[in-house]
Amino acid sequence: MRKNIVAGNWKMNKTLQEGLALATELNVALAKAKPNCEVVIGTPFIHLASVVAAIDTKKIHVAAQNCADNDSGAYTGEVSAAMIKSTGAEYVILGHSERRGYYGETSDILYDKVALALTNGLTPIFCCGEALEVRNANEQNAFVKTQLEEAVFNLSVDDFKKIVIAYEPIWAIGTGVTATTEQAQEMLAFIRSLIVRKFGKEIAENTSILYGGSCNAKNAPELFAQPDIDGGLIGGASLKVADFKAIIDAF
Ligand code: PEP
Repeated sequence: MRKNIVAGNWKMNKTLQEGLALATELNVALAKAKPNCEVVIGTPFIHLASVVAAIDTKKIHVAAQNCADNDSGAYTGEVSAAMIKSTGAEYVILGHSERRGYYGETSDILYDKVALALTNGLTPIFCCGEALEVRNANEQNAFVKTQLEEAVFNLSVDDFKKIVIAYEPIWAIGTGVTATTEQAQEMLAFIRSLIVRKFGKEIAENTSILYGGSCNAKNAPELFAQPDIDGGLIGGASLKVADFKAIIDAF
């Protein structure tokens, strides 16, 4: 059975003190009742160890938002998958469109990052998704297929089984424009069909595929009710406990 997951992506927001306060408040909010999905928070690197220490990690799992594409050595300013794992974090968001767009992350780089994350026991949340021009040209399926083929479809079956996929159309991220429920379901069903073809039905049925892009408390219930949408990757709405909790409660 695949997991339903609601994962927050704090991006470059919150000082350490503010982040700890946010994580602690979420911990209190979730202490009352067990969520019906896996809850993940993707914090900046410097928050990871402190946040892990401040929460119940059986209820809230912690993610980094990136990792290095090398395992160790003279790479000033980089943070390795092994370092992330040593903080107690369990997930790493990889291939976010902001990393691809602003920091030049190519599929080759992402392939290495995914492999290093897996070797170090982290679960990659691998992001894919098209820009508006691609959607307007109705080429989104081919675009997403290539992103998956180049970075995660070369994995062994055993490794592929460990990853989570997040479809995030770039035109919906941080814009307030959500993909319609039909657009999101259609793409996630398409991604699942690609996994069936590549790895077989059983693996596809067990792969969690998330939608991300202006997901909020209002649209989450309808999105999460779709057969192929196994949760959300949440940016802006993960920065306020009431908003994030309402999305978690959509399951
Ligand atoms: C994201 O950055 O992954 C995201 C989905 O952002 P938002 O929810 O703010 O659109």
